[in-house]
Amino acid sequence: MSEKKNIIHNHTHSDDHAHSQLPSDPELRVKAVETLLLNKGLIDSRTLDELIDTYENRIGPQNGAKVVAKAWVDEEYKKRLLNDATSAIRELSYQGRQGENMVVVENTPKVHNVVVCTLCSCYPWPVLGLPPTWYKSDEYRSRTVREPRKVLSEFGLSLDPKVQIKVWDSTAELRYLVLPMRPDGTENMDETELAELVTRNSMIGTGLPKEIK
Ligand code: FE
Repeated sequence: MSEKKNIIHNHTHSDDHAHSQLPSDPELRVKAVETLLLNKGLIDSRTLDELIDTYENRIGPQNGAKVVAKAWVDEEYKKRLLNDATSAIRELSYQGRQGENMVVVENTPKVHNVVVCTLCSCYPWPVLGLPPTWYKSDEYRSRTVREPRKVLSEFGLSLDPKVQIKVWDSTAELRYLVLPMRPDGTENMDETELAELVTRNSMIGTGLPKEIK
């Protein structure tokens, strides 16, 4: 959903609007909306708690990290992942809303991939959880397509000018996940250790996996 379509707009003017009665702290505003929805019987508190727990604790970038680590150690799995990401990801039991049609794009020494949703904030929930705020920002959405190299450098990622940057625009139908390159010096690491190196941003393309010290 677009930020602009949020239930409560962040009014900057100070006239005596009905909605300016809402607390300014985002957490309190959410609480206010939640209470309203509960009181109106539009949502059930148990369902809501379960949903929040799911996306806060059980679904997040740690899932995507396991997919990436498996692809790094298992060539056959990697082939399946690049061929049909939805099925390959489902092999690890990650599936569900916003992950119905997944595409994995592989970084190589010559190509770096980065994912954006220019229209709103489409994001692969089952493998990355909920999108970070910057991903939903107008700035990231508009500038990543126009000047990807500059945007990446602002994330601290300076790529060799010879490396081609490919920008993938997520939609409601297709969600992308970047398969970053396996860092050097990790030959002796197992899948669990490797997964620890995979950051959320490395799977969006705005970062790289952690380096070995
Ligand atoms: Fe979107």
